[in-house]
Amino acid sequence: MAQQNVSRLANKVAVITASTDGIGFAIAQRLAAEGAKVVVSSRKPQNVEKAVNQLKSDGHSDVLGVKCHVSDANDRKKLFDETIKKFGKIDILVSNAAVNPTVGSVLDCSEEAWDKIFDVNVKASFLLAKEVTPLLRKQSSGSIIFMSSYAGLNPFPLLGAYSVSKTALFGLTKALSQDLASENITVNCVAPGIIKTKFSSAMYETEVARETALSMIPMRKLGEVEDISGIVAFLASNDGAYITGETIVASGGMPSRL
Ligand code: NAP
Repeated sequence: MAQQNVSRLANKVAVITASTDGIGFAIAQRLAAEGAKVVVSSRKPQNVEKAVNQLKSDGHSDVLGVKCHVSDANDRKKLFDETIKKFGKIDILVSNAAVNPTVGSVLDCSEEAWDKIFDVNVKASFLLAKEVTPLLRKQSSGSIIFMSSYAGLNPFPLLGAYSVSKTALFGLTKALSQDLASENITVNCVAPGIIKTKFSSAMYETEVARETALSMIPMRKLGEVEDISGIVAFLASNDGAYITGETIVASGGMPSRL
């Protein structure tokens, strides 16, 4: 891993959803490595326990684990309540959870799958941000970061509805950042390309899928979770303090804008 400024997030408290594996766990590792107290969470208590144990065995003592399915209002309340109980405040929210229960074009998506995708990927992100805002206001500063996707800019053909949900997060980032900018609370978004995790395994596990994926990426390599976690650390730190309403794309050169 690249050299890190270990004190950049000292005394900050970060809540990261869907953070027991993949990109979310890497974010928890990176924020902790930069000095933050981190709260990891996901749907399955055994995954939460495993992630907490891993972080502690890596030498991070200020770690809390809370079971939280982001679509469950009680779970979200517990996530924030337990964080306040243990650490006394929240400075950073990373809304990272997403589902994709269907493969196909937008027109292939059933109403049920559409509702689930928007419930987890968009509505829960909105509600988490809404619910954390009063807590950030108490600090008179804060950072909210949404995990979108490159697919939100240029929809992947087989990820139709998921891509639309990720586009919605760009709008949520813009709208919310305007509401909170004058209060020193930044709202930003990260749009990863294809990052090697369980979630994206269908895009690289077979030779054919991997070649197809690589053919789209000018850098000719898949992304690693650390390619995303460092961006989140930057946005959450003082180095990113004057950035709000923006999306950072990390896609190995897949074209995103003019
Ligand atoms: P991943 O490796 O499959 O990890 C998913 C994590 O989310 C696990 O910790 C899982 O734990 C948790 N989770 C799943 N559903 C949840 C829910 N409803 N509530 C709370 N936690 C939940 O996935 P990933 O690739 O890191 O993806 C993370 C984010 O990056 C997603 O928003 C995804 O859309 C985005 N992204 C990924 C890629 C990529 O190529 N990998 C590209 C662009 C964007 P439990 O099973 O215990 O809940």
